[in-house]
Amino acid sequence: MKFDVLTIFPDLLKSPLQEGIIRRAVRDEKIEIEIHNIRDFALDKHAMTDDRPFGGGEGMVMKPEPIAAALRHVHTLAPDAHVILLSPQGRLFSQEVAGELAQLDHLVLLCGRYEGVDERIRAGFVDEEISIGNYVLTGGELAALILIDAITRLIPGVLGCADSAENDTFSQGLLKHPQFTRPRVFDSVKVPDVLLSGDHKAIFEWRFAASVRQTLQKRPELLEHVNFNKSEIKILKKYGVDKELLMHS
Ligand code: SAM
Repeated sequence: MKFDVLTIFPDLLKSPLQEGIIRRAVRDEKIEIEIHNIRDFALDKHAMTDDRPFGGGEGMVMKPEPIAAALRHVHTLAPDAHVILLSPQGRLFSQEVAGELAQLDHLVLLCGRYEGVDERIRAGFVDEEISIGNYVLTGGELAALILIDAITRLIPGVLGCADSAENDTFSQGLLKHPQFTRPRVFDSVKVPDVLLSGDHKAIFEWRFAASVRQTLQKRPELLEHVNFNKSEIKILKKYGVDKELLMHS
């Protein structure tokens, strides 16, 4: 997967991309990230990338010419790249959308600033707009980092343990079960005995029931889309989660 990021603040992106799993994914050539400074494509001697809005009103708008030139530059090298404008008006980003985008070979992430980009860029150069949530950021850079992070960990071979993304929160429509590590007793609270038992079936069942309970308590609306099969219902009964589900519905 290649990510091209277009921004007027390239330094904002650099440090987070040089740490942890993303750094390793770059090193192992699972992903490639190229950051382009839109200012380098500005036409005037002051390298202006914004201007006042026609019709008046507050703030500044990102000028179309430098962005178009930057996008054309990327497009020449990768005509099939999927161009995403980070925008609070876009499709809401989710684990499902991350999975969909992880199937593609090349993403271009256009980061807006100020009051956003000239509408002719959105209409003529962008394949889709994506929002990371119903709030307004000062710029698209943090949103671009979030997309890169969530998508990268879904690319085969990026995570150390092959199935760790499969069992993540949201992947099965449920929140992940609570996790424990050493020590066995912390602050007088013991790790559940079953997790120390070495009984894989019992651990699987406990984790499944705990995952459903966790979802019920924190994000009950997620359960509206989940149908449990007979053996799952049996496990939920064993742990009393069926009654909690009934009380909630
Ligand atoms: N005036 C715009 C509006 O009301 O729709 C908001 C512009 S915002 C201050 C500047 C830039 O931040 C946007 O062009 C976009 O790239 C980015 N941005 C802001 N909120 C975002 C969000 N929720 N998701 C993704 N990008 C966002």
